[in-house]
Amino acid sequence: MLNGNTSFWMHDAGLDAPTRPALTGDTDVDVCIVGAGLTGLWTAYWVRQALPDASVLVVEANRVGFGASGRNGGWLSGKMVGLRRHLADGPAGRDGVIDLQRACFEAIDEVLAVMAAYQVDVDAVHSGYLQIARTPSELARVKAAIATDREWGLSASDVDLLSAEQFQERIHVPGVLGALFSPHSARLNPAKLVNGLASIVEDAGVRIVEQTTATELTAGSVTTAQGTVRARTVLRATEGYTSRLAGHRRDILPMNSSMIVTEPLSEAEWAQIGWSGCEGLSGAQHTYFYSQRTADGRIAIGGRGLPYRFGSRLDQNGELDRVTLKQLEHLLIGLFPGAKPTIAHAWCGVLGVPRDWSPSVTYDPATGLGHAGGYAGQGVTAAYLAGRTLADLVAERQTRYTALPWTNRSVRSWEPEPARWLGAYAMYGLYRAADKLEAARGRDRTSPLARFADTVTGRH
Ligand SMILES: Cc1cc2nc3c(=O)[nH]c(=O)nc-3n(C[C@H](O)[C@H](O)[C@H](O)COP(=O)(O)OP(=O)(O)OC[C@H]3O[C@@H](n4cnc5c(N)ncnc54)[C@H](O)[C@@H]3O)c2cc1C
Repeated sequence: MLNGNTSFWMHDAGLDAPTRPALTGDTDVDVCIVGAGLTGLWTAYWVRQALPDASVLVVEANRVGFGASGRNGGWLSGKMVGLRRHLADGPAGRDGVIDLQRACFEAIDEVLAVMAAYQVDVDAVHSGYLQIARTPSELARVKAAIATDREWGLSASDVDLLSAEQFQERIHVPGVLGALFSPHSARLNPAKLVNGLASIVEDAGVRIVEQTTATELTAGSVTTAQGTVRARTVLRATEGYTSRLAGHRRDILPMNSSMIVTEPLSEAEWAQIGWSGCEGLSGAQHTYFYSQRTADGRIAIGGRGLPYRFGSRLDQNGELDRVTLKQLEHLLIGLFPGAKPTIAHAWCGVLGVPRDWSPSVTYDPATGLGHAGGYAGQGVTAAYLAGRTLADLVAERQTRYTALPWTNRSVRSWEPEPARWLGAYAMYGLYRAADKLEAARGRDRTSPLARFADTVTGRH
């Protein structure tokens, strides 16, 4: 089994090492974007559309897709990004939140249309996602989530409850009491998406340099060991890696997420499991999991595991710890006890969590500084919209995207250490304990431990 090497997706595509040259000396451009993940690359894409004459340089510390964009679960999902009550606090209000949700739904087809237009195959299947409930309290939470979605303008065609029997017609998982289904999600291969997008923007005239770490971002310049980039506009797209930058140490908490992928399953195993629709499959326990059936017949499954490293330290090229690996294997066997899959690859990565668990896109025309990110684990679709929003702000256009509630909002910083580490650990300890208690007691109520964790971390 391989462990690390960025991710299965990147390794399988032969893309886990840099392929583009580093910056060689000082340079002048109109727009410099730091970070070649989906946010940086979609921003580059939309800046080229909005300002076709602008020169655009993307500066990447490692290689395209090295971050969460090349390591994620491959859910191009329309799930709401951020917490509605925080986003509704701003000038865009409730209507703005409802429009952000609609924009997330529409973005799925828009992303796939861009890929199709440039003939980039990302192994997409647009068949929705499922969230299963295996205890009465999980079922109560699923029903409550659907009720809340309805209050925020979603209809039964956007999100609905499946009975245990209806769920079993799709996927055979033992002990499922019911499931949430939404058609608004597509399964894809993340490495193909992010690297395909990089090729698209390069063809459009954007320059990408790899192996070039930005050490300082100021109005008009980006400092790197290889040279200084002078740019009227400097945009930060570093999400879970933001804490490494001076002046931004406590803006974003790098939350860990971990994944394993199996070797391809046999026809007989797939016949037993079903899952012919390739829907995204997730759980309603507090220690959330997400999974997909890959294009080549594997199961990829992820969850939180070790949530956070003291002092916002980052992983070593995606290497996964043994405890989390065992937890994910256990989860996989519990879901599909009839299959006997072999684990082919394990990895982890960081996603960016702001203090209020809600994303922001900012731009100051006076300084030319801007940023986008903080999707708290929902960034594959949101990065497309955030990049579009940021490009419109840079072009000083007022559009549907700049009117979204994430525009120019400020978020307070995370607490200093050790409070940050203790908070993250306490949260996941409490969630794990709450899952165990709920399963043991069999009641249809969420454990007070989980409610307490939600309150302390500001998550609900
Ligand atoms: C394991 C895992 C599973 C996930 N699953 C899903 C999912 O299924 N669906 C979903 O919607 N979201 C998912 N997410 C979250 C999603 O992947 C992210 O929100 C999204 O990819 C963020 O994209 P980004 O471009 O903002 O950040 P990243 O992809 O992290 O890119 C940031 C880039 O900036 C570079 N960088 C950082 N600092 C510097 C610097 N100083 N100088 C130069 N370059 C720098 C990094 O090397 C990196 O390439 C998952 C995340 C993880 C970790």
